[in-house]
Amino acid sequence: MPTRHACDLPALFKQRFGREPMLFRAPGRVNLIGEHTDYNDGFVLPAALDLVTYVAIAPRADRLINVHSVNLDSEVSFDLDGAQQPARNWSDYVRGVAAELLNSGYRLCGADVAIFSTLAMGSGLSASAALEVGFGYALLSVSSEAIDRLKLAQICQRAENEFVGMRCGIMDQFISCHGVAGAALLLDCRSLEARPIPIDPAIRIVVCNTMVHHELASSAFNQRRKECEDAVTLLSPALGGVSALRDVSLTQLHAQAGLLPELIYRRARHVVSENARVMDAVAALEARDFAAVGKLMNASHDSLRDDYNVSCRELDIMVDLSRKAPGTYGARMTGGGFGGCTVSLVSAEAAEGFADVVGPAYKEATGLTPMIFSCYPAAGAGPAHF
Ligand code: ADP
Ligand code: MG
Repeated sequence: MPTRHACDLPALFKQRFGREPMLFRAPGRVNLIGEHTDYNDGFVLPAALDLVTYVAIAPRADRLINVHSVNLDSEVSFDLDGAQQPARNWSDYVRGVAAELLNSGYRLCGADVAIFSTLAMGSGLSASAALEVGFGYALLSVSSEAIDRLKLAQICQRAENEFVGMRCGIMDQFISCHGVAGAALLLDCRSLEARPIPIDPAIRIVVCNTMVHHELASSAFNQRRKECEDAVTLLSPALGGVSALRDVSLTQLHAQAGLLPELIYRRARHVVSENARVMDAVAALEARDFAAVGKLMNASHDSLRDDYNVSCRELDIMVDLSRKAPGTYGARMTGGGFGGCTVSLVSAEAAEGFADVVGPAYKEATGLTPMIFSCYPAAGAGPAHF
């Protein structure tokens, strides 16, 4: 895992732009349970990671934004007064955030910006939201605009929806803005109310990166979202007051199964059952019944694999191996799917030995060397020190 000091970002900024920057950070996230529920107005349980995107920034007197990504060794420039068009590359995340901040009425100044992330891009830990939130937070700060974290999360989500064309829900941007050290957040994606759920010292959250990323991800994601909307359209004449799958119970879904094509029924069954699993997992975490939490995580993965069809061979292998490792309560894919990471709940005593068991077995099965690490929930975006 890259360390946060793998690059001296302030020094690099000074060398490139000839002055001292201010420094900000925004975290990635791991979602414990509640996958593909956020865009259905449902429940999620993410924790912010101590893997973050750092943003070094200094204001400019003109309206230019110059952004250098250290990770990609790539620089882009655009004018805040110009027509904001997607460029179909990584810069759309920052172009989109600038455009949506302007649309929301913020008065922005130009800026020189350098970005460095300790998050692996495209690994399902939401490097995208960390980039959006880190850049948005930094740009508002140098523009002397007050920061409303909820508004910032919504603006960043809109940037990803409108500029990148990824119809993601609010989870990733919300947790990057609102993360709480030592806790996961139970987020109601309709009311946007969040409650910290402390992570007990007896357990560890272990993330395994499968090191695969299937290209299918963003088109399949948008297709799933459409299928969920179709389910709502087909169910709502029979069930009054349904505006999202959040409003449907498992009993209602079973009773109305005849209204839905088989594929749409399975998509809906995942979302409806997953919402219930989130609430059950929170109750079990609070009761310190970690075995019950683990079973719910296992059921979540099975539902994502069989009903929602967003897993892949490597994720299934990693999950199977993780479940067999000593001290594991449960394991599932985390993030949108088609590659990326799994999350396992492991007893604190067993966490240290976990990677030595799962890593070699995964390599044997796939030929790939995974990245495996325990994580401690971190705080949301803010000023940073290097
Ligand atoms: P995830 O959010 O799970 O990491 P995504 O595909 O949603 O995966 O987002 C990854 C994309 O975000 C990258 O392909 C890149 O375009 C952009 N990105 C994220 N972090 C950075 C960074 N530090 N520098 C440049 N682009 C980045
Ligand atoms: Mg993303």
